[in-house]
Amino acid sequence: MSRLLIIGCGGVASVAINKCCQNSEVFDEIMIASRTVSKCDALKAKLEGKTNTKITTAKVDADNVAELVALINSYKPDAVLNVALPYQDLTIMDACLECGVDYIDTANYEPEDTDDPNWRAIYEKRCKELGFSAYFDYSWQWAYQEKFEKAGLTGLLGTGFDPGVTSVFAAYAKKHYYDEIHTIDILDCNGGDHGYPFATNFNPEINLREVSAPGSYMENGKWVEIPAMSIKREYDFEGVGMKDMYLLHHEEIEALGRNMPEVKRIRFFMTFGQSYLTHMKCLENVGMLSTTPVKFNGVDIVPIQFLKELLPDPASLGPRTVGKTNIGCIFTGIKDGKERSIYIYNICDHQECYKEVESQAISYTTGVPAMIGAMMVVSGQWKKAGVYTTDEFDPDPYMEALNKWGLPWKVQENPVLVP
Ligand code: NDP
Repeated sequence: MSRLLIIGCGGVASVAINKCCQNSEVFDEIMIASRTVSKCDALKAKLEGKTNTKITTAKVDADNVAELVALINSYKPDAVLNVALPYQDLTIMDACLECGVDYIDTANYEPEDTDDPNWRAIYEKRCKELGFSAYFDYSWQWAYQEKFEKAGLTGLLGTGFDPGVTSVFAAYAKKHYYDEIHTIDILDCNGGDHGYPFATNFNPEINLREVSAPGSYMENGKWVEIPAMSIKREYDFEGVGMKDMYLLHHEEIEALGRNMPEVKRIRFFMTFGQSYLTHMKCLENVGMLSTTPVKFNGVDIVPIQFLKELLPDPASLGPRTVGKTNIGCIFTGIKDGKERSIYIYNICDHQECYKEVESQAISYTTGVPAMIGAMMVVSGQWKKAGVYTTDEFDPDPYMEALNKWGLPWKVQENPVLVP
């Protein structure tokens, strides 16, 4: 029995909240708190009567530590699940520390204002020292290690699908399938079709920042950076078919690179259709992906935020998206002196997700692991003082929970490898 404070009420949050309500034995009370409280109230009204979980709602500005502290102290949750935006990671972690409450999120920190000179100085130093230039990285949250340790609190970072489940797959492969892992290729295939010429499957601002950044991978402990979308491969995905996929920088490469230094190469690929790439390139070329404000009729406008207003709300894609996702990791390495390769993966159907929780599969594949991560922490199965990614705990109870809560996985021996 536990009480969870959930911050954010967007696409991912609504799945996580639905799943907590299905799991009333663990989450007997939840509070949904977000910037726009009417969204929290609407979701509460939809779920009440269909769940034994007691739901309350609140308005909170998660950029404001004092407001968060007041809310946490009044609700007294066992843990806080941050499914707002990566911009709020540090303020919510600060508030959790001040109140003595465990913290869980699905994406690592990035600043909203990338022109902030204080942030930029640290960022540019990191680019030079480490060799990758994405705006998001773990250094900001790993810096909380000592504070969380001293406070005896658990900070579980990045429990979505990727990162999140993919890193649990890596820990599971290491525990049960390998003596030595040599390479990890993380594949994220979305075969869904929403019928729009251009839309993003999760928050457009965060999504476009991620995919327009230079790609990078880790080889022999060092980052190799490449121009955005410059490495392309084709892969035949079960349940989806042949797709083009592109090498991207991604969070779990950083965490796995640090925590499994024996792995010689870690890469991440995501599928994109030509229409998506053409739209993104045009928008980038005309400056619409910029985070730097421009004056328009005397008002400051951030182009990428304005673009977000024009694009379909990812939460509205659910009813119209058909097709499947196939996300997983291909491992190569050695077991009992012999070479071994496996693919651990999940296939998820957009319409099945919609029938169950009125969301498309991208929100579903993120929201379910967010609930599972919170369950691991509040049930004490994943509890250790400090801040950790999902590859740093026993993968077995999490893998069991994936099967139980809607994301069943399979292991394929000898998959086709990615050149
Ligand atoms: P949405 O934009 O749909 O939802 C974000 C929510 O956060 C909204 O309810 C928004 O409120 C709220 N919010 C934003 N700023 C604040 C604030 N200052 N104070 C309080 N609430 C705030 O995003 P998604 O649901 O698509 O994504 C949520 C998170 O999931 C992101 O961090 C994203 O990076 C992560 N993610 C992780 C994935 C993974 O596999 N690991 C995959 C996909 C997403 P309002 O309604 O007012 O806008």
